[in-house]
Amino acid sequence: MNEIRFHNTLSNRLEALAPLHPGEVRIYTCGPTVYDFAHIGNFRTFVFQDILRRFLLSRGLRVMQVMNLTDVDDRIIQKAAEAGVSIREYTEKYIEAFLADMAALNLQAPEEIVRATDHVEDMVDLIERLKEKGLTYESEGSIYYRIAKFPEYGKLSKIDVGGMKAGARVDNDRYEKDDARDFALWKAPKPGEHFWETRIGPGRPGWHIECSAMAMKYLGETLDIHTGGVDLTFPHHENEIAQSEAATGHPFARMWMHAEHLIIEGEKMSKSLGNFFTLRDLFMKGQKPSTIRYLLLSVPYRRQLNFTGDSLKQAEASVERLRNFVTRLKTEGFAAGSNAKIEKLADKAEEDFDAGLADDLNTAFSLAAIFDLVREVNTAMDRGEFRQQDAPRIVAAMQKFDPILAVLNDDDADKLAKVGFVPKKPRMNAEAVEALIEQRNVAKKRRDFKKSDEIRQQLADSGIILEDSKDGSVRWKYK
Ligand code: AMP
Ligand code: ZN
Repeated sequence: MNEIRFHNTLSNRLEALAPLHPGEVRIYTCGPTVYDFAHIGNFRTFVFQDILRRFLLSRGLRVMQVMNLTDVDDRIIQKAAEAGVSIREYTEKYIEAFLADMAALNLQAPEEIVRATDHVEDMVDLIERLKEKGLTYESEGSIYYRIAKFPEYGKLSKIDVGGMKAGARVDNDRYEKDDARDFALWKAPKPGEHFWETRIGPGRPGWHIECSAMAMKYLGETLDIHTGGVDLTFPHHENEIAQSEAATGHPFARMWMHAEHLIIEGEKMSKSLGNFFTLRDLFMKGQKPSTIRYLLLSVPYRRQLNFTGDSLKQAEASVERLRNFVTRLKTEGFAAGSNAKIEKLADKAEEDFDAGLADDLNTAFSLAAIFDLVREVNTAMDRGEFRQQDAPRIVAAMQKFDPILAVLNDDDADKLAKVGFVPKKPRMNAEAVEALIEQRNVAKKRRDFKKSDEIRQQLADSGIILEDSKDGSVRWKYK
């Protein structure tokens, strides 16, 4: 089997995966900031992370993945205060929606999903450790990390730290700092907004300390893989490294994997451009969960994903093609016997599928392996070269792919129903309605009222209303 190699942002190279604890891969994933519904760009990154974990599981590795929910954030605290509700009350709706959206896209739940609000104590502990080591200073009730004390700062994002101008805004806060590069570990309370009363004073944690504290609490001081979208490399992940490594003296994450962004029709997604979509927006437009999952996984994570109407159509057709192929395998009758060539095709497709994923999750290569198989098997079937005993072998190959792709099961309607969308049934056409009415008339003449009632019900279920008039004729209309 091929060695698993992933691109590590830290070394900027492909590296062999070598978990610290043999057989188990410990992963930390920056989760969503829950002040709004997640958008499909966010889900591009979450789908990448799902493919990562599913691939590792397919290799028989244990996965311990922790994802946080950022429910402490300046915007959340401000919005909750404006709405006059607690942070929990404000974020609950978005957390629920996020978990439901994850399920709709067949994203496996990480082993732990943790909230920042449940870990303020751990963050305070970590800030105290940094304080003891002389890495912090206080200003106007806030506590800052002194970057100058961590010479390796910049090693992940490769930014030129010296070139960062004084006064440049690298963080979301508007507090007084000694050096523009420094960032807040702990923020002083703002009037009317929520704060925590703690050993290091009243206030709230900065965003970066949340992830360092939660990652190390659940995964130990050194994790195998830390993931996120490219925009998190700087400053978020750079700051996580500075906090964690200065506190422990050990490497924080051995491997950093970052997903390139999703853009829409060649442009950045933004509310002002009107091209900003949540998953629910797409469901409203009639897109299926499996189409979106397929599209998001089909572009390897380090390539920018251009989300277009055409790419959606292609993704839908690809899923359809795979599902039809499995149906054909299971339902068509084939002549007895087996064809050695088919067995070989299946072996090759399985090997290539795995090799693609082992090569830095090259999903495009893995999908090409499947579609080659589908094409060749379809041709063999059309030519009568496919035999009865070949079918289970090919079905088995498809069943090996799907724990990672997770699109073969035709359950889109159920998935949509779970997030509150009931797909519209196509209208029954007028000819079909007339034909059923005629059958009902015949049944009535035979005095088969059971049958005629059944037909009336069938029409009613399809949204057709019947009106029996006195002269015996029947009029009908759509509901
Ligand atoms: P946020 O909710 O902003 O904290 O983001 C959640 C995740 O989505 C992070 O890993 C981000 O890096 C990622 N992300 C944000 N925008 C995009 C985008 N357009 N394409 C891909 N990933 C994104
Ligand atoms: Zn994070």
